[in-house]
Amino acid sequence: MTQQLVSSRTIAAIATGSGGGVGIVRVSGPQALQIGQKVCAPWPSDLLSHHLYLGHAHSQRLSGQASASGSSDSQGAAPSSLPARIDQVLFVVMRAPHSYTGEDVLEIHGHGGAITLHLILEACLDAGADSAAPGEFTRRAFLAGKLDLTAAEAVAQLVSAQSVSAARQAQRQLHGELGRVVAELRRRLTVLLGDFEGMLDFPDLDADTEVLARAQPELAALSARISSLASTFHRGGKALSRGLELALLGKTNAGKSSLINALCGSERVLVDARPGTTRDFVEVRTQWGSDASSSQGAQDLTVTLIDTAGERAEATDLELAGMRLGRQRWQGADLALLVVDGTVGMGPEESALLALRPPALPYLVVWNKSDHQGCLPPPAEAIACSALCGWGLPELRRQVLQRLAPQLEHDDELLIVSERQALTLQHCTEALKQAQSALALKAEVEVIAAELRTAALRLGELTGDEITPGVLDSIFARFCVGK
Ligand code: GDP
Repeated sequence: MTQQLVSSRTIAAIATGSGGGVGIVRVSGPQALQIGQKVCAPWPSDLLSHHLYLGHAHSQRLSGQASASGSSDSQGAAPSSLPARIDQVLFVVMRAPHSYTGEDVLEIHGHGGAITLHLILEACLDAGADSAAPGEFTRRAFLAGKLDLTAAEAVAQLVSAQSVSAARQAQRQLHGELGRVVAELRRRLTVLLGDFEGMLDFPDLDADTEVLARAQPELAALSARISSLASTFHRGGKALSRGLELALLGKTNAGKSSLINALCGSERVLVDARPGTTRDFVEVRTQWGSDASSSQGAQDLTVTLIDTAGERAEATDLELAGMRLGRQRWQGADLALLVVDGTVGMGPEESALLALRPPALPYLVVWNKSDHQGCLPPPAEAIACSALCGWGLPELRRQVLQRLAPQLEHDDELLIVSERQALTLQHCTEALKQAQSALALKAEVEVIAAELRTAALRLGELTGDEITPGVLDSIFARFCVGK
């Protein structure tokens, strides 16, 4: 979908995050230069594209406020024609099509404070720009054919990357690696489809037998490659983009909150000797370093610990609601840690919890309070530790990573890191599998061609060559404003 869609709207947004010494207001669209002329001064008459200029950003609105509140004109007449200075800025124009969006783009670099940047943005809006929607700059870049959809999605992944590996993977996609792989697969699929369509249009028994014989291995190869690409999401892409999620389950007072605090090294969750302190579920993001993960090749890994409301028979309505919420939250987790109070041991509550967890959710038993005199000997499969003293925590980390090792093996591989992409590839594989069985059963050529058409369409959805505006809306809605 590389149509040159030129929007008549000129959009503006703060393109940088909060904080920092410098911030950027980005303007894109046909009016970008006129807006620049109204907001930035001095505006060079011989302005060059891709050159930085030093000047000031001005606000017509501020000057109006100043003169209205001043004593010079008590009648509240027309504001002063001299706009008020907002900030000393650097500004740059990138003329179409040599810009991120492919449109005329103006960037104004001001001091990083939120107020200053908002005033500059407001001045751009007053001068005729519209507020940009989330991801609208990148959406325009995609519509202008500057990047395919896999690269556009990589922009969001790069911005939200929590680790060096995640940023590296996003960079690979941003530079079109996935787009190229998928485009090549789509090309091969289209050739295959062409063969089947040829059979439909010009049936010829001898030629058809030859095409069918050729199609079989090619179809099998395409299906295997696409299925393997889809599987990289669960083999590492998901863990890389979102990190690992560990759900802590257990009775109240088993020490779940203490364990979270010990694993993240700070008092993040309330700990109390009275049962029922955790009513909601709490999520704490931690970064697991090389000490825990070197053997698994998983340096700088984001691990989210999810503390759920503990289970107990005498729970209040509020706690019961918390337990329900917590159980829902287990659904997407990668691993459960069943935290057992070692001074009490395993009981029917623990068995009930294990029965309640999603069947595919693996678990480890953590035998907590091993520092306590009354701690019972742990069963062989349990990991003994003390959240209070920190004993056993390195072993716990090691076992977590060992259990999840298959999801962390992604050394140099191209990975699918978005759920949408993984699902689309999965649907593509399903269509190819249908085509394979139809071919094996010597079904009508039209049936096989229809499945191949569906598979090719799915690959087009991945790169954005075949996509509906509704799907685009949902993809770009996940971006932040200014991207
Ligand atoms: P939760 O309800 O499972 O979240 O349990 P908490 O983390 O709130 O802990 C309940 C009580 O057990 C608190 O009084 C903690 O200080 C205590 N506790 C937690 N972990 C340990 C531990 O490893 N050793 C000892 N001795 N006490 C612990």
